[in-house]
Amino acid sequence: MPARRPILTYGLAALTIAAGLVIGVAVGRMLVGPTTTPGLSGAAAPGAHLAESTPATFPAPAGQLDAPADSVRQPTAATPIAFDVSRALATIRALEEFGPRKGGSAAEFAAARWLQQQLGALGYEARLESVVLTDGSTSHNVIARAEGSSPRVIVLGAHYDTKPPSPGANDNASGCGALLEIARILAGQPVTPTVEFVFFGAEEIIDGDPDHHHFGSRARVAAMSADERAATAGMISIDMIGYGPEFHSRTMLRGPRGMSDLVLAQAAASGVRMTFLKDPGASGWSDHEAYELAGIPATWIEWRDDPVYHTAKDTSGHLDSAKIRTAGQLVLDVLRSLDANDLETLVAR
Ligand SMILES: [Zn+2]
Repeated sequence: MPARRPILTYGLAALTIAAGLVIGVAVGRMLVGPTTTPGLSGAAAPGAHLAESTPATFPAPAGQLDAPADSVRQPTAATPIAFDVSRALATIRALEEFGPRKGGSAAEFAAARWLQQQLGALGYEARLESVVLTDGSTSHNVIARAEGSSPRVIVLGAHYDTKPPSPGANDNASGCGALLEIARILAGQPVTPTVEFVFFGAEEIIDGDPDHHHFGSRARVAAMSADERAATAGMISIDMIGYGPEFHSRTMLRGPRGMSDLVLAQAAASGVRMTFLKDPGASGWSDHEAYELAGIPATWIEWRDDPVYHTAKDTSGHLDSAKIRTAGQLVLDVLRSLDANDLETLVAR
């Protein structure tokens, strides 16, 4: 796509913009007007009373970053688009106000409807996918697509349920805030891959059985046809990106590592200190699990550790907006760097 190549003349730039407009209309995204800020009316000004550490970017010290595999191409610089962390924070506060959102609960469903409305306000046709849980209750995935110039799909996911009594600001309204902000940007700036946004329901364990989790993502993958899985180039789970000193790309090491390698390569190119960390959970600890086990290149992006996750203290007041910005910008940059060749490499596994 044009964004990855130097623009040689103003004429070419104009053609590029015109082509982008045509594509934007042709893909039928049904934008309803200027994009709007997600958030609740009357909410505090974005960014207020949130701690912000020194910027979470560092010069990349030689030898201290996990080197991407030799086969991974180096990301090509694209015209940067800034990830607006204040919008992500507004989403986080809005979700926090729904309180604890256990999978299958009324509060979780209210949050699902709110997320669906936010996507609608951005011009997306968002649908709810029902997921019946083992306790008989029903959770929902909230799904929308930004059509790209390629039919190859990158799934961008974040769970919006929480582990009571936690209001889940970091786990995982933070990932939802990033997802909605990236959806806002891509509504106006098409990228090469088709991007499927999924706000997953019921990621957390709902009872005493440690395998009673990841209901939304497992159901989503189970509902995909063989052709859909084959067309899915990669998946990124954004889960807990608001707190902690360590920044990781994580997989269970049971599926293709192509997506994780691309994320790590983009981080290195951006001067962001990020390392690979194995997810050692028997069934994984985030929504990449089902995708990874289905053979799709999947990764989980996380800042860690957060000592108050899964407690009532997981409120927006303890989040570090610089961490959220770093993670959100990284995912946005990865999506914008992917070209058709990258997507074919990913689907070839
Ligand atoms: Zn989580």
